Amino acid sequence: MTSSLNMKNKILVTGGAGFLGSHLCGVLIKEGHDVLCVDNFFTGNKDNVNHLLLNPKFELMRHDVTFPLYVEVDQIYNLACPASPIHYQHDPVQTTKTSVHGAINMLGLAKRLNARILQASTSEVYGDPEVHPQTEDYWGRVNPIGIRSCYDEGKRCAETLFFDYWRQHQLEIKVMRIFNTYGPRMHPNDGRVVSNFIVQALKNESITIYGDGSQTRSFCYVDDLIGGMKKLMESDKAITGPINIGNPNEFTMLELAELVLKLTSSHSKLTFKSLPEDDPKQRQPDISLAKAKLDWEPKIKLEDGLKETIAYFRKLLQT
Ligand code: NAD
Ligand code: UDP
Ligand code: UDP
Repeated sequence: MTSSLNMKNKILVTGGAGFLGSHLCGVLIKEGHDVLCVDNFFTGNKDNVNHLLLNPKFELMRHDVTFPLYVEVDQIYNLACPASPIHYQHDPVQTTKTSVHGAINMLGLAKRLNARILQASTSEVYGDPEVHPQTEDYWGRVNPIGIRSCYDEGKRCAETLFFDYWRQHQLEIKVMRIFNTYGPRMHPNDGRVVSNFIVQALKNESITIYGDGSQTRSFCYVDDLIGGMKKLMESDKAITGPINIGNPNEFTMLELAELVLKLTSSHSKLTFKSLPEDDPKQRQPDISLAKAKLDWEPKIKLEDGLKETIAYFRKLLQT
């Protein structure tokens, strides 16, 4: 079975009940595809896909990708993996298994079906980078034995597996390095900085700045990100990646906190906590490759994306 990209496909989304996965499922359904959403609900939940459950083109399956999966599909988006540090550090062995065994199983499935497969990799493969902004040819600076390693090294090994299945079995692969993404349906207790700051500001609780807040991140709004993900999946067979997808506008955590306070009209004060181990000091994608190969770049400004996200959390906290 070959992916016929102009036709309606049966598409598997692993981690489909999570933050990014649920947005992707929604877009694919809107385009008329059949979507099989596979999730073990570790960090995702049914509420994220509630609006899709009655759609006959949508199917939700509880399954852990560390176990084999025998289904029939044309394309696979492999997103299953907790993404927030507190969650992926909760059971680090399971995190590595999800990335590595999950990749082996999904690649085995793709091989049997001759299906195109996309891996949701991460800017974390660059670790705490000494090249700035990060280009895809930079090999990274990752601590192999630290508390972030279960995620970073798991994702790096998954990339290795993808490229070995490509070299050894001629699989059609797409490796996407996702930079910090935010938007509606992030989990309120997820621990990531955007959701933490917004929830704290809306509750007029202290905003927790880790370290002195001078570390930087570059935040991409979820709609831009999903647009890039789809463009990569639908790109020419020769484009394997790895390819950075993210927003190159870089902010310090103090700048982010101030913007969130302004947009929520909050009375919260800043409180400074210790910086977690191995926390990268700076991060900014070089997206030249995505612009050239996919004709993609993000459009949504941080302020506009934050307004949407704040509206989502405001509603959620009222219910
Ligand atoms: P998320 O935690 O909201 O979603 C991950 C989903 O995977 C959840 O629904 C979870 O229940 C599911 N899952 C976890 N382990 C599983 C397993 N063993 N079997 C089946 N399902 C499993 O996180 P997200 O932000 O939506 O991230 C999605 C993907 O994108 C992840 O692979 C993540 O590493 C990657 N990514 C995200 C970001 C970001 O900023 N959001 C950045 C870089 C990479
Ligand atoms: N696999 C799967 N679904 C399939 C085909 C394979 O989950 O439809 C899993 C299976 O558990 C296997 C893994 O993918 O261990 C890798 O498959 P591959 O064919 O590459 O290797 P092998 O079966 O030789 O180990
Ligand atoms: N951070 C913070 N306060 C919080 C949560 C996170 O200052 O309440 C910092 C964190 O130390 C890191 C940055 O914000 O420097 C981004 O953290 P996040 O967990 O969102 O993503 P990652 O570190 O994986 O990029």
